[in-house]
Amino acid sequence: MSMHTHPSREKSTTPDQASKQVIPDDQPRVGISQCLLGDEVRYDGGHKRDVFLTDVLAPFVEWIPVCPEVEAGLSTPREAMHLAGDPDAPRLLTIRSKVDHTAPLQAFSQRRVNELRECDLDGYIFKKNSPSCGVHRVKVYSDKGHPGRQGIGIFSAAIQKAFPLLPLEEEGRLNDAPIRENFIVRIFCYRRWKNQTQGQRITRGMIVDFHSRHKYLLLTHSRSHYHALGQLVAKAGDYKPHDLANAYGALFMDTLKTKATVRKHVNVLQHLAGHFSKQLSKMERAELQETIQDYHQHFTPLAVPLTLIKHYVRILAVPYLLDQVYLNPHPKELLLRNHV
Ligand code: SF4
Repeated sequence: MSMHTHPSREKSTTPDQASKQVIPDDQPRVGISQCLLGDEVRYDGGHKRDVFLTDVLAPFVEWIPVCPEVEAGLSTPREAMHLAGDPDAPRLLTIRSKVDHTAPLQAFSQRRVNELRECDLDGYIFKKNSPSCGVHRVKVYSDKGHPGRQGIGIFSAAIQKAFPLLPLEEEGRLNDAPIRENFIVRIFCYRRWKNQTQGQRITRGMIVDFHSRHKYLLLTHSRSHYHALGQLVAKAGDYKPHDLANAYGALFMDTLKTKATVRKHVNVLQHLAGHFSKQLSKMERAELQETIQDYHQHFTPLAVPLTLIKHYVRILAVPYLLDQVYLNPHPKELLLRNHV
């Protein structure tokens, strides 16, 4: 597991720094509910270690673990809690003795959010169903103890409000291959966008280049968003550089939230093939089309046609496509495209 405590990113620049642990600039920094890493911080003294996160994703990200309940001063083990009352402003109550922990959790959340601003997070993975950490459909109980409408955990709500562009997910939803691939694309893209713009003199050319390199990736998410981003880039001269970066960054991250589909991938694969198919023999063209159609009909995963396309892009040195992020949006070791 990769874990660092320094809020700012270190860079490897001189030989005498070689012995220090270096965080590559393109490694996403991801907040995580601490129990998911195997730490025994849950109300029952146990943990909820998630093997994909600890054994597969960990080498490629830097975790920032937080257990809001323990860091707010509650003991382990502790009485189980749930959300109660108004789903839009729920209270955090112990289930049996009805002790109200809302105010301390909210005060802690505000403090921790301010600290996390220094961490430059690229994503956050929360534990599902938790009244502190859950993001989707956390049960909110009536004062009589009946589950009613659903809400969001106290701490995760504070994170969502403070970091509107930050990709958030729950570990349970990450078992769904397209959701998992989408989340990991987003955290790597967010890191790349920030590397491109933070602490740099922002120029129109820089944003045009970024937009161009992400063209096919964006098209697998939303064609209309891609065109809206293109219009923004075309009118770049009307904006102050900082405003342009803010507007582009927000729309870019919003675009990636739209799930990619097989149909949209097929469309993009055909466009990519169109860049070099004239250089292929009749047999090679037919074989490439067959792999795309097999993927379209769900006989093979996306990795199959993409591997063939990447092969041709490499050996034919197809200009423009060589730099397309779509071909390598996240580490291949994660095998994400073997499952979508
Ligand atoms: S779900 Fe959140 S509050 Fe509960 S144990 Fe895990 S990290 Fe702590």
